[in-house]
Amino acid sequence: MEPIIGIDLGTTNSAVAHLTPTGPELIPNSLGGRVTPSVVGLDESGTVFVGAAAREFQVLRPDRCAALFKRYMGTDRTLPLGGKTFTPEELSGLVLRALKSDAEAFFGQPVTRAVITCPAYFNDRQRKATIAAGRIAGLTVERILNEPTAAAIAYGFHEAGQDRRLLIFDLGGGTFDVSIVELFDGTLEVRSSAGETSLGGEDFTRSMAARVLEMIGMSFERAEATTPLLVARLVQQCEVAKCRLSREETAVVRVPDAAGEFKNAKDVTVTRENLETWANPILARIELPIRRALADAKSTRDQINEVILVGGATRMPLVIRRVKEMFGKDPHRRLNPDEVVALGAAVQAGLVGRAGAVEDLVVTDVAPFTLGVEVAKHFGGDLQNGFFDPVIDRNTTIPVSRVKRYTTVAPNQRSLAVKVYQGEGRKVTDNLLLGEFDVGGIPAGPAGQEVDIRFTYDMNGVLEVEATVVSTKRKVTHVIARHAKGLTEEQVRRAVREMEKLKAHPREEAVNRFLLARAERVFKELPADLRRALGELLDGFEAGLETRDPEAIAKHQEALNIFLSLHDPAGDDPTGNAE
Ligand code: AMP
Repeated sequence: MEPIIGIDLGTTNSAVAHLTPTGPELIPNSLGGRVTPSVVGLDESGTVFVGAAAREFQVLRPDRCAALFKRYMGTDRTLPLGGKTFTPEELSGLVLRALKSDAEAFFGQPVTRAVITCPAYFNDRQRKATIAAGRIAGLTVERILNEPTAAAIAYGFHEAGQDRRLLIFDLGGGTFDVSIVELFDGTLEVRSSAGETSLGGEDFTRSMAARVLEMIGMSFERAEATTPLLVARLVQQCEVAKCRLSREETAVVRVPDAAGEFKNAKDVTVTRENLETWANPILARIELPIRRALADAKSTRDQINEVILVGGATRMPLVIRRVKEMFGKDPHRRLNPDEVVALGAAVQAGLVGRAGAVEDLVVTDVAPFTLGVEVAKHFGGDLQNGFFDPVIDRNTTIPVSRVKRYTTVAPNQRSLAVKVYQGEGRKVTDNLLLGEFDVGGIPAGPAGQEVDIRFTYDMNGVLEVEATVVSTKRKVTHVIARHAKGLTEEQVRRAVREMEKLKAHPREEAVNRFLLARAERVFKELPADLRRALGELLDGFEAGLETRDPEAIAKHQEALNIFLSLHDPAGDDPTGNAE
């Protein structure tokens, strides 16, 4: 049977996993790594490459790389890459295509079905964008799964049989999600989810970069506008320093010159205390979603038996400390926070494919937003439009179908405009318009003709709305997908064709490609004597590649790797995920 894979499509890193009879396991990428940076590079020949090599290349050629595009999923924004523009869906599609090809190499057969995760707080548009990205990559998206639910499933799978209430605290590269989950009798029930779509580890990094520039009398905004190379390399330095400060008390950030060169770099020492002071205002933003999740789950902090940390940014000691203060207990991190979401997605893929390993597991999830329609309200004799009337309350268990009765407001009103919104605001202007349609054929008569509006929200968080004129039983069905802003069917088809045109580098070249990109980046950062040594190694490696002699190539690879392990200022771990 064709395997179904589970994919964590992350802001910073992505991962792919599958379910074995004994549990979920990650599938290695072409470099043998367990996680793949969500970075896409496009070289001069128009060839695409994804992952660690693209992340290295990004430092030298930010114009030829795209990253952090998950933040723009479902918006109209496009991103420049190598002289072309791409939608976030296309870029995510290229990451997914790379993961799909890793899975195909692993299984030795085509893979076309996947469960893909997204932040619980992704709105309807962002979820559709994720499904579109899957299709662009040639994948049928069997299920969109909330990331914290995926993490809970991974824990639930491993620790079935212990009844308890968990809070999943997921602070990733670009998003923060919190979910409260109840485990009992082989059932995993999500009680509530809340979050922030633009809060994550990258904010700490960028804030550090801004403060470091401030310390030497420069403005981050101005630098971003005028010296993008300086900013790209400074942010990369800050990323390394931030991770180092999770283990050590101080770290040195090297601020390059305007051209991004390190010859005359200014060294700035940053302490853990500095970082924590800068991070505090960012971290304060985790409070509200936590309060909201607790309230929706009708839970107090004391009733949480365990707090589970997910996402790379939960490695920061400050984050761990803050969580401990909030809940009065040490949070847990038994599974690797970078891997747990993909592992949970693989379990869900097993549920979709009815794998034997999960036949006793039942998972339920919730709708993260309130869904409803616009209504008019009477104030005295006045009728005012623009009010939001909920049909499905947030954190209702899904799938769910709810019906509410509405009435016409004017005599002989022959049609009713149904405007569907998502959000928590009292007025529709504070919420997101998902779609609208007209219900015609209402019989003439006085005001007060009845129309039933039914909302059906499925397991993927996709909404269908059906209106029925009560007196005539006339029905109008509207799948929000077709009218929501975002990619239409035709746009998806076009994107599939466009992305298929882009060549990808052969898999077997991935290791060499990554090594070259890394060595080129390190080269720029080294003092002259080491540069000379690395230059010679690079020349030898490139000559070796020309010979196509596997033994010669392996010898040069080894020499380069040894050199880089000693002299790469960013450390020795190509995936950047060492503890
Ligand atoms: P994720 O999206 O879950 O892969 O999380 C990525 C984020 O975690 C990035 O912003 C990383 O900078 C951050 N991160 C990874 N490792 C560490 C670490 N050791 N200390 C601090 N932040 C980290």
